[in-house]
Amino acid sequence: MDDLLPSAIPFWGTIEILKRCNSRCSYCNNWKENASQRISAADCQELFPQLTSLGVQRLIITGGEPLLHPELDMILKLAVSSKIYTSLITNGLLLSSARFDALVKAGLQGITLSLDTLDPEIYYKHRGVKLQNPLKKLQLISEYAHRFNLSASVNCVLSSLNSKGLENLINTANDLELPVMIQPCITDNQPQLQYLVPAGQELPNVKRNLQKVIEMKENGFRILSSSEFLTNIYEYWSKGCVQPITKCEYGFINLTINHLGDVLPCWRLPAIGNIHTASVVELWNSSEMQNWRLRMLAGKCPGCWLSCSFDWQSTLKSEKYCVEQWRSNLSNPQVINT
Ligand code: SF4
Ligand code: SF4
Repeated sequence: MDDLLPSAIPFWGTIEILKRCNSRCSYCNNWKENASQRISAADCQELFPQLTSLGVQRLIITGGEPLLHPELDMILKLAVSSKIYTSLITNGLLLSSARFDALVKAGLQGITLSLDTLDPEIYYKHRGVKLQNPLKKLQLISEYAHRFNLSASVNCVLSSLNSKGLENLINTANDLELPVMIQPCITDNQPQLQYLVPAGQELPNVKRNLQKVIEMKENGFRILSSSEFLTNIYEYWSKGCVQPITKCEYGFINLTINHLGDVLPCWRLPAIGNIHTASVVELWNSSEMQNWRLRMLAGKCPGCWLSCSFDWQSTLKSEKYCVEQWRSNLSNPQVINT
């Protein structure tokens, strides 16, 4: 059966370097968990050459809030030394020109700002903290993206509260040449979070607002989420499921590691091992990982409500081009700062 599987080469690595976070997002538990454990630069020194040997070219560094990690700059330098293109997902609260300068010097190549809305009240309801002037954060990211040729984008978590502001967010971000990705708020049926899931009379409004986003995409606005994915967000909220469940290829192209060093078939699935007790190469090629891949391909993955691979697939081509360009420039020794 294994012979029938497509080859599994992780172009992407995703690493959650810590859980600690300075946001208090209602739909996320990271900030509630034990904050002391994290991936260290010493871990990365061993890990990154293994990732390169497996084929990882692009590493998404996330958390928690990665800007809170005391060794982030060193981790970036180690990634560049292993010829891995890095990007951060950040809530932007700690982002300043000075911090950006240091990140770029360390080798950062991309940044995604988690920003659900430009409305301060809704921002507070989603994220439990205040963001002073989100427009300034967008402008800062746009400025650095231009100056240093960084890939930059905005990631918006959609709930019942913010669909009305999507058009404004996309317009504002796109005016600054920042594309937008939209993902639904995942509440895992927790009763205290049901206010974030559109229901009843709100559903037609959400449908209209998502339809507007799809039209904007068709008219050339830079929206990274596929139209199919955007349609399925509404489908899921109105029916409680998405049918038919399609195959997912996440475990073929993305290698995921959490703050403990656990290697996961996907964020939503249980660990198959840990980098402190096994080589990541062995884990990636293990029979347990292959079993997960079989389930993903068969549409039998229990982890989530639709194949998130829609969106991975839609960005893979442009990302590959971007990463190849960067790696070809690495022949310039000045790019490597370590
Ligand atoms: S910013 Fe991200 S990691 Fe932090 S609490 Fe919000 S969703 Fe969780
Ligand atoms: S179906 Fe969802 S949970 Fe399962 S591997 Fe794909 S993205 Fe992950």
